Amino acid sequence: GTFKRLIIVAYRLPFSIKKTKEGVSLFQNSGGLVSAVMSMAERMGQSSTDDAPKIHWIGHCDNSLKTVHESAFENEHFIAHPVFVDDDIHQAFYEGFCNDMIWPLFHYFPTFASFQEKDFDAYQQVNNRFLEELTSIIEPGDLVWIHDFQLMLLPEMLRKAIPSASIGYFFHIPFPTYEIIKLLPRTWRQALIGGILGADVIGFHTADYVQHFMQNVSEVLALPIIERYVVLEDRSVFVGDFPISIDFTKFDEGSQVDAVVTTRQTNKELLRSEKIIFSVDRLDYAKGITYRLQGFERFLTQNPEWHDRVTFVMTVVPSRDKIGHYQEIKREIEEAVGRINGLFGSIGWRPIVYSYVSLTFTELMALYTGCDVALITPIRDGMNLVCKEFIASRHDNQGVLILSELAGAAQELPDALIINPTDTQEVADAIKDALRMPLPEQQQRMKTMRQHLQNHNVFRWSHSFLSAFTQDDAEQPDLA
Ligand code: UDP
Repeated sequence: GTFKRLIIVAYRLPFSIKKTKEGVSLFQNSGGLVSAVMSMAERMGQSSTDDAPKIHWIGHCDNSLKTVHESAFENEHFIAHPVFVDDDIHQAFYEGFCNDMIWPLFHYFPTFASFQEKDFDAYQQVNNRFLEELTSIIEPGDLVWIHDFQLMLLPEMLRKAIPSASIGYFFHIPFPTYEIIKLLPRTWRQALIGGILGADVIGFHTADYVQHFMQNVSEVLALPIIERYVVLEDRSVFVGDFPISIDFTKFDEGSQVDAVVTTRQTNKELLRSEKIIFSVDRLDYAKGITYRLQGFERFLTQNPEWHDRVTFVMTVVPSRDKIGHYQEIKREIEEAVGRINGLFGSIGWRPIVYSYVSLTFTELMALYTGCDVALITPIRDGMNLVCKEFIASRHDNQGVLILSELAGAAQELPDALIINPTDTQEVADAIKDALRMPLPEQQQRMKTMRQHLQNHNVFRWSHSFLSAFTQDDAEQPDLA
């Protein structure tokens, strides 16, 4: 049926909070989850006489804000409930278990994963802190939607505390095969998979991740599976694929905003390049940035006629750069950029224009709409929103997307030039094909991809996830 209130639980709050002389200022995040949730609130509000009800959101908060009054954590859309965690426990939970174990392991970098008992203890403690906050605000009729790999234990914890709760869980990164999960100590893998199964509805981005999860459920917990349901003693759990997406209209319309048009024009004048290739990613070994550079180098070596005529604008967004593997990859990237520019460049031409910065929305839009080719080559990516944003921005139906088959998004976008990122010859060939692609072919591919994303936008994502709760009981397997 319908739900009284929606409670979102995610590691990050929907806004960042800065202390000021007068109190605090809130800066709302613009990510996909935040806009999806806001639109859901609006639609929930339509059924009542009220305006959109405020969404409750439980998330981690920095200890420096402990002294700030509760009422400060509220804006027109959200009532945030901050979870504070002691610094040493937070460090072991976040930098340790989440970013130095789950992240590399689930992205198929098992040798980067560090398995520390004290980190798992901290992970349990932090999930428990979230539970405390949740049980202090939950009321009958609420729907609790828990997000991502930082909170895998929480669904089961909540189920034990409140057996009748309605719980959804969405996993935002790849779910790997049993061969990978097997590396986890037995008690950890049982706790993590059993933890997620506390939910009523579990969502992943792709059918592959669903299949892997089901394989793990049967290998690790030996539970029966009927179609898309995991069958437990007293209930069954629906597991489905719900590919996350973007606010299509925001990017489509953003391409015509004055500031974007001006920035795009300025970029073109500064670069003075016949063709522009771009990439944007957070600093991460899973993004395949060094292979991408090798592919671009190979393209330059094999196609001297393109020298002086093409520029690769490569932006890396700072991320997790206190962790060793991230510092290492940053050094590798910067060495490769320097070497390639030194080898091919001249006074008038820098083949790679590299920056290690965060971009504003305007700068990002100017890149998306001012380039000829997007070169998106992760070695592993749960979904990849940058490629979807690029497509949505191309109101002009022009531009070519080169996309790794190892990004979740590749499942939905067969009209991209799909490549394997470690095959640097395939990448070099794709760059050449993209630069020469006739306009009608660009338009045809772009139109197809845009139509898909216009329909499969982030609002559809959240609504189809929530619809899984109200599915007719007749669709459930017969448990008798
Ligand atoms: N993005 C950002 N700051 C930037 C550049 C990009 O916040 O300087 C955004 C971008 O618009 C996209 C997100 O970061 O929404 C990246 O999402 P994606 O799924 O591609 O990769 P992730 O970083 O989540 O692994």
